Amino acid sequence: MSTASSLPDTTALAAAVAGPVLVPGDPGFAEEVTGYNLAAVTAPAVVVGATSADDVAEAVRWAVVNDRKVAVQATGHGLYADLGDTVLISTRRMDTVNVDPDARTARVGAGARWRAVIDAAAPHGLAPLNGSSSTVGVVGYTTGGGLGPLSRRFGFAADHVRRLEIVTADGQVREVDPERNADLFWAVRGGKGNLGIVTEMEFDLMPVARFYGGGIFLPAAAAREVLHAWRTWAPTLPDDASTSVALLQLPPDPALPEPLRGRYAVHVRFTHLGTAAEGEVLLAPMRAVAEPLLDAVGEMPYAAIDAVHMDPPQPLPFADRGATLASLPAEAVDALLGVSGPEAGSPLAIVELRLLGGAIARAPQVPNAVVGRDAAFSLVAIGVLAGPSAGGVPGALKGLAAAVEPWTSGALVNFPADGDPWNGPDRERLEEIVVRHDPAGTFATNLALARRSPAR
Ligand SMILES: Cc1cc2nc3c(=O)[nH]c(=O)nc-3n(C[C@H](O)[C@H](O)[C@H](O)COP(=O)(O)OP(=O)(O)OC[C@H]3O[C@@H](n4cnc5c(N)ncnc54)[C@H](O)[C@@H]3O)c2cc1C
Repeated sequence: MSTASSLPDTTALAAAVAGPVLVPGDPGFAEEVTGYNLAAVTAPAVVVGATSADDVAEAVRWAVVNDRKVAVQATGHGLYADLGDTVLISTRRMDTVNVDPDARTARVGAGARWRAVIDAAAPHGLAPLNGSSSTVGVVGYTTGGGLGPLSRRFGFAADHVRRLEIVTADGQVREVDPERNADLFWAVRGGKGNLGIVTEMEFDLMPVARFYGGGIFLPAAAAREVLHAWRTWAPTLPDDASTSVALLQLPPDPALPEPLRGRYAVHVRFTHLGTAAEGEVLLAPMRAVAEPLLDAVGEMPYAAIDAVHMDPPQPLPFADRGATLASLPAEAVDALLGVSGPEAGSPLAIVELRLLGGAIARAPQVPNAVVGRDAAFSLVAIGVLAGPSAGGVPGALKGLAAAVEPWTSGALVNFPADGDPWNGPDRERLEEIVVRHDPAGTFATNLALARRSPAR
């Protein structure tokens, strides 16, 4: 492996690709590598602002010839790799979104974000299987599984991918679907960035134009009651309802509704695809637990789906950690409150429990490498790496993981813990496919799997 100081001349690469080729110090380099997570910015040796699959293929071939590893970034929401010394392929220019209302599909470029798909699908009464925030990238989210407010009804986003185009480590652009490159089709849907750079993805849209939902914010004093009520109420919901509950330490942000600013609050999130009247009946037991600070649940167009989780849309420096839980008995809730409840003095900004089950637990029509299907709940915690409590965040994330360890079954690929989340026979199959398509570990920087393979 050559070092950053001996980076080969990029002139030939710049001549071969249509997009910009930038090295540290070039104007525009910092903007190109900066994404949503401001704490994850590291320094690749060169960044290629790809405009097409051909640009991606040129960049991969150049990286291989010059003995560099390849990383990819669309939005920077989910960067866990060290980009140091890599060739970073920035896909943000490849942001086309085409909706076919008759086929009920969307075909998107590698840099598309969910907001663009939601807005293109909505006029046709259709919706994609996006997650909690529409600022997230479609491809990174979907290749990691993709768990959102419609997942209990329809499954993981990866379960509804129809075809992909991907550049593999040999620099070839490959069409991937259940017939062509079927092993890659299985592996990329759940195996995330380990197989190559996805340049295009086609997936199903769902006939969803509206929902009844949003969030109820409850005071810190009710945290214990709310979490205990939620853990018994949530599993009684039908598949067309989704819910999560989050312990939030909200900033004193004037953009937030007044009763929430600077408060510790418990946020019960809810989405139901039935009528508003049916949704009200389902939600009534949670509404009865305590007097809310704010009740923002109602009838909404699907395009307003961000209102359910209210994730921060602006980039910020953060660290996160996930786990899947096999069950959530009263002792697990007590353990969680012990380290992250209102009296615990935790620096974590968000600690969220999400109900899984329903279609999430069912095998998809075409099997894939998605993990976490059999878990009952997902836990995600986020700490902001700024301000006086930033230093306590890594320890608090570890402490929370330790507290719920007795009930932990693994982790989702999109919300990883330490190490990689794949296990069991699927892990062996995934590793075999990764090693066969990428024997030199060209894409090893995307997630941990490839680093552990015997090929390197
Ligand atoms: C605010 C927020 C809300 C979230 N909500 C949810 C949620 O509700 N459900 C859920 O499942 N996840 C959620 N996530 C996690 C998110 O799905 C992952 O972080 C995902 O990796 C983000 O993809 P990206 O392209 O936006 O990020 P990037 O940082 O650009 O990419 C992250 C990784 O995705 C892979 N990747 C990206 N592009 C490609 C490509 N073209 N080819 C191959 N691999 C690629 C690579 O491994 C890359 O390192 C959330 C994250 C944030 C920050």
